[in-house]
Amino acid sequence: MAATPKKRHSKSRRNNRRSHHMRIARELVAISKCPNCGVLKTPHQVCWNCGHYKGQLIKKAL
Ligand SMILES: [Zn+2]
Repeated sequence: MAATPKKRHSKSRRNNRRSHHMRIARELVAISKCPNCGVLKTPHQVCWNCGHYKGQLIKKAL
């Protein structure tokens, strides 16, 4: 028999858990400015706007 939870979690606890599901909200915690084009981006990732990372072109801009 599989293990089952003893008590149901409240709406508050359920919603609190799901508050982390939205990716954009999590990314808002850490934001840095691209040194090449100045747009706001997530740190340690290639800039979505100009495609630069650590001062060099990684991928071509759209
Ligand atoms: Zn950039």
